[in-house]
Amino acid sequence: MLSARERKRLGLDRPITRRDFIKGMMVGAGSLVLSGCSGSTFGSDTPPALTLPPSVHSYFGGDTPDTISTCHRVHNGESFDQGEDTGEIYDLVVVGAGLGGLTPEEKILLLDNHVDFGGDAQRNELTVKGQRIIVTQACDYQWAIGSEYAQVKKLWDDLGIDLSPTSDLALAPEAYHEHLFVNGEWIRDFWETGYNSVSSPWSKQVQDDYDAFWEIMESFKWEPWAQVKAELAEWDKISFKEWMEDVNGWDPQVTHLIDMWVRSDYGAGVDTLSAACGFWNFTGGDFVRYKWPGGMSGFARHLVNALIPQALNGQDVITGNMDRNALDSSENNVRIRLESTVVEVRHEGSAESSDHVLIK
Ligand SMILES: Cc1cc2nc3c(=O)[nH]c(=O)nc-3n(C[C@H](O)[C@H](O)[C@H](O)COP(=O)(O)OP(=O)(O)OC[C@H]3O[C@@H](n4cnc5c(N)ncnc54)[C@H](O)[C@@H]3O)c2cc1C
Repeated sequence: MLSARERKRLGLDRPITRRDFIKGMMVGAGSLVLSGCSGSTFGSDTPPALTLPPSVHSYFGGDTPDTISTCHRVHNGESFDQGEDTGEIYDLVVVGAGLGGLTPEEKILLLDNHVDFGGDAQRNELTVKGQRIIVTQACDYQWAIGSEYAQVKKLWDDLGIDLSPTSDLALAPEAYHEHLFVNGEWIRDFWETGYNSVSSPWSKQVQDDYDAFWEIMESFKWEPWAQVKAELAEWDKISFKEWMEDVNGWDPQVTHLIDMWVRSDYGAGVDTLSAACGFWNFTGGDFVRYKWPGGMSGFARHLVNALIPQALNGQDVITGNMDRNALDSSENNVRIRLESTVVEVRHEGSAESSDHVLIK
């Protein structure tokens, strides 16, 4: 539940005379009533078509062209005139059914453009040669947390999730392998052993530079804090790329690999991120990491199971088949409406005097 302060900040303490919604793409229960949503020509910004290898018989989830084509139309400046008033009234409408949006409230509607909830913490499901495969789309791991995060621990307990170091979900460090496709070839476990294997695309010099990078990161101590703080202040003045290439003289191929990880973690490259920030990311020592099949979509599923139990109806939270109609049932307090891209949010009339918001 939202705190009293948060409710006030969002204006939920004010009386609602009427909040309604325009039936456009948003309230068509996934029908996306606008013409041309399923992939006609939208100019040069058209998302590329999805091509699957012949061995993949079915595919579910992800940023498929259908999912993002409406966003491309917004980006291209199209206007969306069609629509009819559905008369639906909610206390709160959340655009995006990612981990941040999955919120318990009294009367809430979540709208998301994807075929599944979870946002970055979504799963992709494939059937390959009759075998169901559940994979992570982006958000993979839950990290162990310190005692200061008592509220998060309480949430895990409330959801019945065991994230103790002995939990089945805890990954042994040796279970963590990442294989990279480099120059047309898979390099097994690139970070740990692949980079200096016989198939490595790197010269001995680049491998040594990479070793030097980890030597610094792994031996770094975050104490005494006064000294570390002063060093961080200096590293904050240059980019992570400058620190690697100019200060340490390492090969740009090392920077290129690190750049990939930094982009995934921060949404910004090594040329933008300060050295201090990059440094913080790669030091830290041992920690326990937890993972469900399909990564953090497991956590999203636990949240949805608590909010809308009838969607899984007692099945296993991770492998059960989610009843997608139940997610958006009018009997729910929390409704999740998928395949629904919001193209416009506005007050009716002036923001000062308007008592409701229209969502298209
Ligand atoms: C590659 C990658 C790896 C990551 N790995 C980890 C990890 O291992 N562990 C970890 O803790 N964190 C990880 N993160 C971070 C974590 O995934 C995110 O911080 C978190 O999932 C964000 O949740 P959110 O709800 O704020 O946003 P999002 O997950 O982005 O959800 C927002 C949703 O809103 C939808 N949306 C946006 N605009 C509209 C619109 N107009 N209409 C309808 N829908 C809309 C989006 O499509 C999306 O589905 C990773 C992130 C990325 C990108």
